[in-house]
Amino acid sequence: MVPVIALVGRPNVGKSTLFNRLTKTRDALVANFPGLTRDRKYGEAKFDSRHFIVIDTGGITGDEEGLDAEMAGQSMQAIDEADAVLFMLDSRAGLTASDQLLANHLRQISKPVFYVANKIDGVNPDVAMADFYSLGVKKIHPTTATHGKGVRQLLEDVFELFPQTEEEAEPEDEDRGVKIAVVGRPNVGKSTLVNRMLGEERVVVYDHPGTTRDSIYIDYEREGVNYTLIDTAGVRRRKNVKETVEKFSIVKALKAIDDTNVVILVLDAHEGIVDQDLHLLGHSIDAGRALVVAINKWDGLDADQKNRIKSELDRRLQFIDFAEIHFISALHGTGVGHLYESIDNAYRSSTNKLQTNKLTQILEAAVYDHAPPMVNGRRIKLRYAHAGGFNPPIIVIHGNQTAKVPASYQRYLEKTFRRQLDLVGTPIRIEFKSSE
Ligand code: GDP
Ligand code: GDP
Repeated sequence: MVPVIALVGRPNVGKSTLFNRLTKTRDALVANFPGLTRDRKYGEAKFDSRHFIVIDTGGITGDEEGLDAEMAGQSMQAIDEADAVLFMLDSRAGLTASDQLLANHLRQISKPVFYVANKIDGVNPDVAMADFYSLGVKKIHPTTATHGKGVRQLLEDVFELFPQTEEEAEPEDEDRGVKIAVVGRPNVGKSTLVNRMLGEERVVVYDHPGTTRDSIYIDYEREGVNYTLIDTAGVRRRKNVKETVEKFSIVKALKAIDDTNVVILVLDAHEGIVDQDLHLLGHSIDAGRALVVAINKWDGLDADQKNRIKSELDRRLQFIDFAEIHFISALHGTGVGHLYESIDNAYRSSTNKLQTNKLTQILEAAVYDHAPPMVNGRRIKLRYAHAGGFNPPIIVIHGNQTAKVPASYQRYLEKTFRRQLDLVGTPIRIEFKSSE
């Protein structure tokens, strides 16, 4: 289980500061994808060995009207999807009427709420805390989000509620095979695609009825390969198509992305790419997942439309040039079989063990062809490379002045490794270690 934690509180109490601190581990990778502008609402974070999802709900005060009320409503929905809530208060400002209103709201929900007295730096902690204790709560966590003080203690308390399960602690269960998550906005054709993928003649499905997860996990076999399809659209839960369509839950999609090997992002050819698609894409990259893009509803378009859509996608998806793109019709089944070739390639690429001697050979050849630049009159030296992990593949490069390696040179190295190792469909991470 990947816990979901929502940050709530008035504007300016320090929510986004805490959010950035909690999710910072991912920034290095995100920086490599300049095409991706993202609002910072959903983020992936790590506490020791535990992954979790953080939602910054934006500022809510509890007494909004009109448009503000609508925004607050969305925040409430995020709280709804969370497993725990961090209610942030501003120690400098003390307890305000808005805090009290919001506290009233939060008392009515049946999930754990942690009270956080942020900006505890530079104020008398006893005085500030006494003020907040008047809310009638048992415990308040003092923090300084800007410096991270008190954050570890807070997370330790939060994670006491989410003990690590056996399944999580153990290495991946190999039997379940390649995990595939089909994600996308409502109506892009996920259910239709899932039915197609499972309905293929070559597929043998082993049903597990009665699953209680958010998404349905479906095990099957195709041409001797085991797969587990993570069905975020809930196809198998619905008895017939007429039953209520599942409410789109971004948290459900994010959890599926976290738990999978390969993400299939489904887009609607008629609608192009919208913010929500970029959001899912951003999370998929953050999480280092292998990725296949399926542009659905490719039927019934004329040649002109197809060309226009293709060039638009080429432009907007430049930053994920590692991913293979398929133009499919889930409705007619066109192109669906070929998805498997990309899924298998992406899985292989993301999980294959990388050999140290080969990585170092590739590095040496790359440096020979195109040397790193001089910094402060000295040339950056890159000496050897080894594997640092897989899913996604991590390549660790040792040398000196490695902190100064320019982004363009990093991209050059990444391209070279990718080509030489024949890695497709997966992001790769390059980490530098400096010996001085
Ligand atoms: P949000 O609107 O709740 O997301 O608040 P922000 O994270 O944008 O923070 C508002 C302001 O408070 C920013 O100027 C932060 O630098 C500052 N801030 C956040 N946390 C702390 C803290 O722990 N101590 C101090 N002194 N300032 C903080
Ligand atoms: P979901 O909400 O993402 O699961 O989307 P559905 O699978 O329920 O599909 C939404 C609508 O798009 C339905 O009316 C489908 O029949 C239609 N649809 C799905 N795939 C295709 C396709 O490849 N071509 C066309 N023309 N329509 C499709």
